[in-house]
Amino acid sequence: MTDAGVFGALIGQEDVVAVLRAAARVDAPTMTHSWLFTGPPGSGRSVAARAFAAALQCPDGGCGVCHECHTALTGAHADVEIVSPAGLSYGVGETRELVTRAALAPTRGRWQVTIVEDADRFTEQALNALLKSIEEPPPRAVWLLCAPSAEDLLPTIRSRCRLVTLRIPGVDELADHLVGEGIDRALAAFAARAAQSHVGRARRLARDSDAQRRRREVLEMPAQVATVGGCFTAAANLVDAARGEAASVVQSLDEAETSALKESLGDIGGRGRARPRGVAGALSDLEKRQRSRATRTQRDALDRALLDLAAFYRDVLVVQIGADVDLVNVDLATTVQRLAQASSPEATLRRIEAVLACREAVDINVAPLLAVEAMALALHRG
Ligand SMILES: [Zn+2]
Repeated sequence: MTDAGVFGALIGQEDVVAVLRAAARVDAPTMTHSWLFTGPPGSGRSVAARAFAAALQCPDGGCGVCHECHTALTGAHADVEIVSPAGLSYGVGETRELVTRAALAPTRGRWQVTIVEDADRFTEQALNALLKSIEEPPPRAVWLLCAPSAEDLLPTIRSRCRLVTLRIPGVDELADHLVGEGIDRALAAFAARAAQSHVGRARRLARDSDAQRRRREVLEMPAQVATVGGCFTAAANLVDAARGEAASVVQSLDEAETSALKESLGDIGGRGRARPRGVAGALSDLEKRQRSRATRTQRDALDRALLDLAAFYRDVLVVQIGADVDLVNVDLATTVQRLAQASSPEATLRRIEAVLACREAVDINVAPLLAVEAMALALHRG
């Protein structure tokens, strides 16, 4: 952990960090009890919320090394609950339970913090249940809601939250940060650009050769769809690559969380000691949360793969119309050139539309392989 403590992982968010740092030192009754973290995917909404939760519990405002910080960041802190929807949305029952828990006095921390991921996914009834706790917050409750944008929440909720807006860092800014993390300059520049500034993905591309291989597999699709048979192979490959990417994302998170939770519950495991009461329950809660995250991560990874593909065709279009902008996929410039010459800008636009239609289909829960196969055939037709 750097001098920046728990906020060190936030890139290019100086304004936000200053606000959160100051707020973490405030005590009741001046505390703001409801916060709304917004920003595009990859801007680090959830990372920022966790860092703030740690700063709120840390006696030192988020040192990044103490037990409070460590457990809050990994989701194992007794007074920091991180929730994500078990299905597609938060139901009224689970929201009522959440509101009840948020009203409890903290067991060891200063605040009872609830981080709500995908806060744009409450049913209307559930939102009403949440609203009461946000309108008249219990004295120690702090809500950290995360959503892509403030418009995704009802005005009644939005108007009662303090807004934290995260931005996507620039490609160069992100590359510099990766260099600071010990990544080679050329690799950092490639990863920041290929990931289109998505921080987590850039880091994986820079550090994990499997992630690089999976990206290349996805970007082989434009060549593979030249034949109808190739469409089906390409679709299966793309879905597999997304699955592999998701697995690598959740695996390290899951392991860190599980071991932090066991440690914080005093369960060192495997030494013949009886597990303290409550450990099994806490572990099964964590597993449930991890399973739902795995599902969401798979969907996100597929979406990411489709964005990579859209960016590839965008590069093709850039060449075709002779636009004076940088390619996203510099490493694939030859392939991009070849396709640009072999097709028309109109066909490229239709292909980009096919990729975007596939994203929408996956978003409304069409089976991924079916959606990707339909897209591959549309790419084939051109
Ligand atoms: Zn600390």
